[in-house]
Amino acid sequence: MRYKRKTILLFLLLLSLWALQREYQFSTKKLQRIYQCWSVNTQPELKLSDWFFPRASMNATTNWLAPVVWHGTYKEEVLENYYANRKITVGLTVFAVGRYIDFYLYRFMTSADKYFMVGQKVIIYILTDNFSKVHWIELGRFHTMKVFKIKQEKRWQDISMMRMKTISEHVVDHIQYEVDFLFCMDVDQIFMKKYGLETLGESVAQLHAYWYKAHPTEVPYERNQSSEAYIPIGKGDFYYHAAVFGGTPMQVLSITRECSKGIMNDKKNNIEAVWHDESHLNKYFFLHKPTKLLSPEYNWDIHNNRSHEIRAVKMRWAYKFYSILRVTPKSNLP
Ligand code: UDP
Ligand code: MN
Repeated sequence: MRYKRKTILLFLLLLSLWALQREYQFSTKKLQRIYQCWSVNTQPELKLSDWFFPRASMNATTNWLAPVVWHGTYKEEVLENYYANRKITVGLTVFAVGRYIDFYLYRFMTSADKYFMVGQKVIIYILTDNFSKVHWIELGRFHTMKVFKIKQEKRWQDISMMRMKTISEHVVDHIQYEVDFLFCMDVDQIFMKKYGLETLGESVAQLHAYWYKAHPTEVPYERNQSSEAYIPIGKGDFYYHAAVFGGTPMQVLSITRECSKGIMNDKKNNIEAVWHDESHLNKYFFLHKPTKLLSPEYNWDIHNNRSHEIRAVKMRWAYKFYSILRVTPKSNLP
């Protein structure tokens, strides 16, 4: 009798554990994070003034007090010591669809392996329409890649815009349990130098290499009032490049969800914003200010005249084979 009762109790206990697991979806990453919260409490939070030393000569803080990270403004050792105790994982999503796999993916991956978050755990999420064309690349011991299949859109504008929706779905499904910070990048670019911990933040935006000195009235925000990406003339802070954005998984979820909502609503009304997903991203960051900005050194076009403030190019645009990739090149760049 007693034996039977024990068995029932054990059964009930297992059942409730199973129910809890279903409700809260334990993952090793989550448990690790809970443990870190307990154990790290003794380590003080990192203050901006601990690691960030803007040069007096430049405007390195926004008017909402977010740092603009330039080469030479951060202390690497301080950041490395701080994150050494936290054991973080950084995610990086990249889409390679159609010819972009052949032209760009290999160099993006090999350069990311060499320079992106060296010494940290990294998961690169490749989203592609063709598994068989993705190169097998032997990555360093802290870097892993996961490949996911997505469907091919007919127009390049749609491939670019659908990324927002796809990223949000992957964050919900699994990325939120796997990483502490997430970057989302274009594939047509190449890492050139260490791209490290100084770039991590709650929500991170990239200053556009062509527009970083321009006044908000001059930049190509969407000006059609019927579009969800509309920003009135005279408003706005900076022009951000959609080729790089990031943050915590929850912030990236918010960014990508809002942008894809805007894109879909515009589609319903037969509108396409002037710079597609980038226009919507600019609207998002106008309404929800990013907590960190990256200088154009973090995504530079080497054909642009390099002025004195560009000291170290961390990543550069790859050459664009417009005639092969697209029917019409983008023409309204300065
Ligand atoms: N993309 C792709 N295949 C395409 C078009 C776009 O894989 O045919 C992806 C790729 O990651 C690319 C991103 O969408 O980097 C944005 O497109 P693109 O780089 O052409 O836009 P741009 O940098 O010119 O704004
Ligand atoms: Mn691009």
